[in-house]
Amino acid sequence: MDQTPHVALLPSPGMGHLIPCIEFAKQLVHHHHFSATILIPSAAPPTTAQKTVLQQLPKTIHHIFLPPVQLPNDPLSVASQISLTVTLSLPSVKHTLASLSTSTRLVSLIVDPFGIDAINVAREFGVLPYLFFPSSAMTLLFCLHLPKIDETVTGEYGDLPEPIQLPGCVPVHGRDLPNPVQDRSNKAFIESLKRYGLAEGIIVNTFVDMEEGAIKALLVDEPGKPPVYPVGPLIRTGSSDGLERYECLKWLDDQPSGSVVFVSFGSVGTLSHDQLNELALGLELSGQRFLWVVRSPSDNASVSSFNAHNQNDPLSLLPKGFLERTQGQGLVVPSWAPQIEVLSHRATGGFLTHCGWNSTLESTVHGVPLIAWPLFAEQKMNAVMLTEGLKVALRPKSHESGLVGREEIAEVVKSLMEGEDGKEVRRRMGGLKDAAAKALSDGGSSAKSLSDLAFKLKNQLNI
Ligand code: UDP
Repeated sequence: MDQTPHVALLPSPGMGHLIPCIEFAKQLVHHHHFSATILIPSAAPPTTAQKTVLQQLPKTIHHIFLPPVQLPNDPLSVASQISLTVTLSLPSVKHTLASLSTSTRLVSLIVDPFGIDAINVAREFGVLPYLFFPSSAMTLLFCLHLPKIDETVTGEYGDLPEPIQLPGCVPVHGRDLPNPVQDRSNKAFIESLKRYGLAEGIIVNTFVDMEEGAIKALLVDEPGKPPVYPVGPLIRTGSSDGLERYECLKWLDDQPSGSVVFVSFGSVGTLSHDQLNELALGLELSGQRFLWVVRSPSDNASVSSFNAHNQNDPLSLLPKGFLERTQGQGLVVPSWAPQIEVLSHRATGGFLTHCGWNSTLESTVHGVPLIAWPLFAEQKMNAVMLTEGLKVALRPKSHESGLVGREEIAEVVKSLMEGEDGKEVRRRMGGLKDAAAKALSDGGSSAKSLSDLAFKLKNQLNI
């Protein structure tokens, strides 16, 4: 048998989970001579986006599509679809681990928070389970503290008069806490958090200069808390060489440097029809150049299928005459854009984002300042950190109904692209970009943390 230490990774469905998981596997393979297999659970055939990133894997990283599971027909939130898909895939995970443990020197199964149940499966095969946490250290700290906080709080978190203060973090109001916490009758989330302690260690995609206080708190030794390894920022690095160049990149080529605001709400985020309308008119009113990834509207930001993009033509739902009036000012693309290539393009000068953690890190690595427009999951907490803590983002105000009006949108876009506030967030984002590169370079904090982890994984094999 090949003596190379092998890790199996189980990212839950969704590009936001698959991409960082692949990048983490690449780190182990390229810098520490591991080999890896990525197990992909799904409820539908692979999307083009998935196929594109998987096609670009190095030879030492294999991938296996687990047999697709059948989800119930009822409308489910994205989070429920994801966790059910992973749970229903556990028999196939078991089967695959059985085969990998005879054909490779399997040392670890690395799961993400939706795959926490697979920890027991790893133990059955005598391989060490690790948790890969694809969000911020602040969110991880919150998850580790929540079971205790929950014992002391009465009523809903959204109604708390005072913000919650996590050690080393910017205070966060109850209304900005992650979605699953907003309904206290839902106990499943807290129960899953209690199982984080069963992991051998927790790998988190962040870096010290971005989240110094939270990381310091996470590194404190406490009973029941596994060691934490901040290894970020890991973002997609695959090249698109050989693939046909997207039209929107050609459009960016023709725009002046730093002049375009990129607008995108991640791989699943959607806006209501009214909000889509206001955003369109706000972008138009701002007079700034924009590149906007438009998805068909939905009344619930997190109820869209995470496996397939809506087949409706989203462009047909934009305000009447908008496309004609903004020709030359902006470009609208349906559903998907090559985000890394857009963020690294010299013409991109700002990013209006839903604050998904991957998008946040991708913008940081490329030094692009943000407009924070969180939708669901832990995105509001990220937005608080980015605007009030790191001050690398501006955040538009919404009406009481939650709608952000066109004037406010125009104002915040102008402010980011040509105002004094924009200058300051741009300067701070520039500093963070340099710190990100340093964290990953030889001797940097994240590179060291990865070495410690790799040593631990290899050492159990007496290599
Ligand atoms: N992404 C992309 N093009 C798009 C939308 C998303 O390449 O049009 C990628 C983006 O670069 C990021 C991931 O999909 O790597 C989205 O992850 P994130 O954590 O930001 O948000 P999520 O989709 O999980 O809400």
